Amino acid sequence: MRIDIITLHPELLEGPFSASILKRAIDKKIVQIVVHQLRDYSKDKHKRVDDTQFGGGAGMVMSVQPISSIIDKLKSERSYDEIIYMSPDGLRFNQSHANQLSSCDNIILLCGHYKGIDQRIRDVYITKEISIGDFVLSGGELPAALVCDAIIRLIPGVLGDETSALTDSFQDGLLAPPVFTRPAEWRGLKVPEVLISGHAKKIEDWRYEQALQRTKALRPDLLD
Ligand code: SAH
Repeated sequence: MRIDIITLHPELLEGPFSASILKRAIDKKIVQIVVHQLRDYSKDKHKRVDDTQFGGGAGMVMSVQPISSIIDKLKSERSYDEIIYMSPDGLRFNQSHANQLSSCDNIILLCGHYKGIDQRIRDVYITKEISIGDFVLSGGELPAALVCDAIIRLIPGVLGDETSALTDSFQDGLLAPPVFTRPAEWRGLKVPEVLISGHAKKIEDWRYEQALQRTKALRPDLLD
């Protein structure tokens, strides 16, 4: 899978891809992350990428020219499954979107800044708009990194134990059951007996029941 990220601040995207699971996925060439500096595509002599809003009002708007130039260039090189704009008014991102996106070959993530991008770019190029929640951040880089993490860890071969992503919260519509590791007793608190019973079926039933109880208590909306 190849993910092209278009941004005015490539440095904001260095950290998330330089450690742990995402780094491993890149090193194993399961995923390729290509970060593009949008400013390099500005034809303005001062390399401007934004302008004031028509109609007036505070806040700059990212102009059409640099964005259309880079997207046209990328589209001429390969075909993209999705061209995604990170936006607070987009579709609220969830695990099922992550599952869908993890089977794509090529996607573009466009990070906005200021007041966002000229609406005409959204109308002409964007195939999906994703929000990571009902709050406003200063730029689309952290949302883009978050979406990349959620997608990449689902690609077969990325997680060491491939079944582990399947037992995460939301994957089966339920929150994950509680987990424990050694020691079996800590400050008088014992690990549930069933988990050390070695009885696979009983463990599975217990986990399912715990997941159900947890979901009922914390996220009843998931059961609707
Ligand atoms: N004026 C816009 C907000 C712009 S915030 C509005 O009110 O809707 C600047 C940029 O940060 C956006 O273009 C987007 O790329 C990113 N961003 C901010 N909050 C976000 C969120 N919750 N989800 C995804 N992207 C977000």
